[in-house]
Order: sequence, then structure tokens, then C-alpha cells
Amino acid sequence: LTSTEESVLEKIESEDVDFLRLQFTDILGTVKNVSVPARQTEKAFTEGIYFDGSSIEGFVRIQESDMRLKPDPETFAILPWRNDENSAAARMICDVYDTSTGEPFEGDPRRVLKDALERAKEMGYTVNAAPEPEFFLFEEDEEGRATTKTNDAGGYFDLAPKDLASDVRRDIIYGLESMGFEVEASHHEVAEGQHEINFEYDDALTTADNVGTFRTVVRAIAAQHDYHATFMPKPIPKINGSGMHTHLSLFTEDGENAFHDGDDEFDLSDEARAFTAGILEHAPAITAVANPTVNSYKRLVPGYEAPVYVAWSDRNRSSLIRKPAARVPAASRVELRSPDPSCNPYLAIAVMIHAGLNGIENDLDCPDPVRENIYEFDEQKREEYGIETLPSNLGEAVDALEEDEEIYNALGEHVGAKFVEAKRQEFEEYLIDVSQWELDRYLETF
Ligand code: GLU
Ligand code: MG
Ligand code: MG
Repeated sequence: LTSTEESVLEKIESEDVDFLRLQFTDILGTVKNVSVPARQTEKAFTEGIYFDGSSIEGFVRIQESDMRLKPDPETFAILPWRNDENSAAARMICDVYDTSTGEPFEGDPRRVLKDALERAKEMGYTVNAAPEPEFFLFEEDEEGRATTKTNDAGGYFDLAPKDLASDVRRDIIYGLESMGFEVEASHHEVAEGQHEINFEYDDALTTADNVGTFRTVVRAIAAQHDYHATFMPKPIPKINGSGMHTHLSLFTEDGENAFHDGDDEFDLSDEARAFTAGILEHAPAITAVANPTVNSYKRLVPGYEAPVYVAWSDRNRSSLIRKPAARVPAASRVELRSPDPSCNPYLAIAVMIHAGLNGIENDLDCPDPVRENIYEFDEQKREEYGIETLPSNLGEAVDALEEDEEIYNALGEHVGAKFVEAKRQEFEEYLIDVSQWELDRYLETF
């Protein structure tokens, strides 16, 4: 055993951990658990834990269903909502192995991200990422089911007493901190019932792990307060939806921020510009992965601080990429504003990285920033500026993904094919559904 593995075993002993949850994610980004008694931990490290992958979304065909989970000891954490005096549960995030070949399983989203980081490493970079997940807190009905009723009328940065959910948010933050998160800021978002909690940036793999943990902790602790936390991108029409802006930067081997250039007007190095150009070029295909639900496209409409147009800017929030002001060189980064928190963070961050690296490899030219409010441009003006529009629904986005070899290949054949199949099916189901809106509009009119 490695020393980190040894120290996990010690913690299990000292904290009276009786159960261990081995976590991994399916292609759609849902966190899955296999629970084992804590005394199996050593075996999990040495041999791995076998499980049947045939019931996991997009994993394997029935006839080749044996998978093996190998926990990453760096991800050990005690679960804050199941920790009492004499027993506790802990989790570790796992890499998935294919039992028949003994190789990492190509359908494991964490593997897809590791491949992207491998490519970055070959080019001499490590990748840092920070997400800004937003979510809504809704009341539950008598049966404990989620409603879309909010219990507060707070707006951006409002304080108590209007912000009644701040107690819940406080407990969520305690929970996150006990799991090792460094929470930087938390605030009420623009919309009623909407919240954002920012945590410290980290290497891209840890950040993707953190997003899954974050969603789990937020939901579990909200539920303890009889609230339903949702990361659905647009639960209520005509007010802001929930995004998961993602900040990215590349660091060189000697720990320098490759995106920083103090002499540049926008503090952007040539690499940062080419990386940005790569994301802009592949934006339509990235959208399928970063905005993977039918509902995602109800958020990506003009007027609600979500991006619609493929452009970058150092100031306005209507563009796809923003260059936030950085106080120190290490903080120089670009912010992609399209992702929403319904995405699979491993896949979304992986495709962003590949797109950016592709920009660097091909030395792509970055267009000028657009510093005006693009929501107010008409089609002609957008054409003049050469500004494209993001896909307007899941079907178009999946088309774009299939047409973009670079991004499709970034997912790998297995994940790419399963992802496209699942999303096509989801979109088709949606198309043949008859919505409440249609009934309200037409039932009595015709
Ligand atoms: N809620 C907005 C979105 O859908 C973002 C608001 C903000 O700038 O934080 O992306
Ligand atoms: Mg926000
Ligand atoms: Mg932001």
C-alpha cells in the first residue's frame, strides 16, 4: 500500500467508519455508489471491488458486464450527513477498470478527463479549473416531493431576513468544508430561490471530482432542511437559469501561469488567446456536452446573463467567454459561461481542454473582444462582427458534436457513441411530447 492508502486505513479506524461508499459517475454525470463494509478497504486498494456494470448508464453491454472499481485514496472523505458519535460513512472516488482486459475502462468519464490532462501534459501544461455552480432551493410538498416554490424573495447579494434560505446555505458550507472544500464565497443569485457557492480552484481532475461531491452535498443537506436543491438549468421560465461557469488556466511545468502576460492589454498570453480561439471554434460541439439536457437550451436565450453568442469579452456577460480581471499573475484565466450544472463535469471539462489545446496546437487566431452587449445586436450587426450563435436545442447540439471530429474523438469512441445515442433518444422523446404550454395555448382555441 502507498502511504496515502495507509493513512486512509488509519482514518477509517480512528473515525469509526463502518461503511465505505465507492463512487464513480455514469456517462450522464450521475454519481453512482457501491457500498462496502469498511473492512474491505484494503482489498479495494490492492485488488479493486468487482461490480456489475450492465445496469449503469452507457457502461457496457450485458455480456461483458464485469467491472472493477479502484478507489483513489486522495479522494477519501467522511460524509458529513452520516456522521454520528460511534459510526461514520466515508466515500472515495474510483477509477473503473475492465475486468476482462485489466485496462482502464474506456467508458469511464474520469478516464476521458485523464486523457485530456495527459494531452496537456505532453504539451507541457497542467490544467487548473474552477466551476461556479448555481442552484435553486425549492420547498417540498406534503409528500416530500420537489415543488418550484421558493421560500424567499431575495435578489443578488441580499441578506437576511429576506434570504430565509441562508441557514440552509450555511449548513451546506459547513458540510462542504468538512469534506475538504475551501469555500471562497457564497451568495444569493439574481433569481428568487437561486444560490451560488464558489469553491477554490484546483487541478482539473480534482475540480471535476468536486463538482460531483458538491451536487451530492448540496442536495443531501438541503433535504435535511426539507428543501429540494436542484441543478436543473432552467426550472422557472422568464427568470435567470442556473449556470456553471468554468474558469480555466494552463500552468507550465515550473509552476508559471501560461495564460498571464502583463504586457498584454487584457493580460492574455498568446497561448491564452489561441486556447480561447480553440474553444470559440469548437463551441457548438462543446455545447452538446456542457449543456446536455433539453432544458439546458431554455437557459441559453438572450436576456438572462447566459451566453447565446460565440464571442469573448473582458467585461460583458452576454459573451460566451469572459476574461475576468486578475489581481495576481496566477489568477489570470478565461471563463467559459455556457456550461450548466446538469453536465457531466468530467466530460465537459475534458472537451473544453481538448478544444483549447487544439487552438494552441494549430496556433488559431483569436478574434477581437466584443465589448458591447451582444443581446442588443440584430442579425445584421452580428454578421458584421462575425458572431455565430450557439445551437438552439439539444438536437442541433448533438449534430454539431457528431460533425466535430476533434470534440467527438475527445470523448473516445465508446463514450461518444453512447452519449450521442442517449441524447438523440432524449431529444426525440421531448419532440413527441405534448407540453402544458401547448394545451394552455391550443386546447380551447381550436
Ligand atoms: N445565472 C446566470 C447563468 O445562467 C449567470 C449569472 C452570473 O453571472 O453569475 O449563467
Ligand atoms: Mg453566478
Ligand atoms: Mg461567473
